[in-house]
Amino acid sequence: MVEKLSSNENPFPPLPGVLSAVTDAAADLNRYPDMATSELIAALAELNGVENDQIVVGNGSTAVLETILKALCQEGDEVVHAWRSFEAYPIAVAVTGATSVPVPLTSEGRHDVDAMLAAVTDRTRAILLCTPNNPTGPVLTQAEVERVLAEAPSDVLVLLDEAYVEFVRDPDVVDAASLLPHHSRLVVLRTFSKAYGLAGLRVGYAVGRARLVGGFRAASTPFGVNALAQVAALESLRHRAELLERVEQLVQERGRLVAALRGQGWDIPDAQGNFVWFDVGDRAGVLARAFAEAGVIVRPFAGEGVRVTVGDRDANDIVIDVAGDFIAGA
Ligand code: PMP
Repeated sequence: MVEKLSSNENPFPPLPGVLSAVTDAAADLNRYPDMATSELIAALAELNGVENDQIVVGNGSTAVLETILKALCQEGDEVVHAWRSFEAYPIAVAVTGATSVPVPLTSEGRHDVDAMLAAVTDRTRAILLCTPNNPTGPVLTQAEVERVLAEAPSDVLVLLDEAYVEFVRDPDVVDAASLLPHHSRLVVLRTFSKAYGLAGLRVGYAVGRARLVGGFRAASTPFGVNALAQVAALESLRHRAELLERVEQLVQERGRLVAALRGQGWDIPDAQGNFVWFDVGDRAGVLARAFAEAGVIVRPFAGEGVRVTVGDRDANDIVIDVAGDFIAGA
């Protein structure tokens, strides 16, 4: 059996309640979805303790990111982000005609906030912060994000990508809810693809000040969130406690995996998402092939390292076995 641990997906299948809500909604597929996504937006506003006009939804958080950058940037503008980080960032920036300014991570796989602030110019329109950082794993702390908000010029948007926020257990992690009321240029990006296990349906959203969000909504694709995705996301919010129990199980598995790998001698960075990072440099391809030979598909980044998603117990056991053999033979 092939285990797919290459896309940071949730290994749990959809909850029965979510599946039946989607099946019921499929009877009306001849109709357009709710263009305003009102019910979902109201539920997300309640969850995040904000007003409805502070939420914009889209076809996955990648689409929301693209919309935000499209609304914000044009040719000649710059967007600062860490690198290595989520591979969609430079692509989404390039599509707007702006220039992406990648800033190397620290040796621990963390954002280098000093270097990122130093990279800001008068052409910078946005700073993208990925917490926890995909693919390396550590979070941004409250102090780090406060610093960016205090020191970056006031017209620069600060976009906090919290795709994996439900998996975070680091007590120092940034608390976006505490910052949003005080910072008009802070925007937080979230997704239903990871903790909620709806990657196949594509639902993501952003939270920010109503004035900004209004602009992002105007730049969004009409009917950008399909009818089944709206229903599934809403139903998932109703089953949030159950889904968060699953997340807790994955967090426990992550702890077991990281401890086993470190015990083998691997220097695994702090893993706060549903993935672990092997910092193997130019051996990334060789390590990925070793996993593939054992039936596990992982994500190599040539010359940098390998990202492996936390799967179910059996899949993680294979990861531990392969990694142990690899380091013993290295
Ligand atoms: N942000 C980060 C950091 C991610 O890793 C991902 C998914 N790999 C996303 C956003 C996008 O999620 P989606 O488009 O599925 O909502």
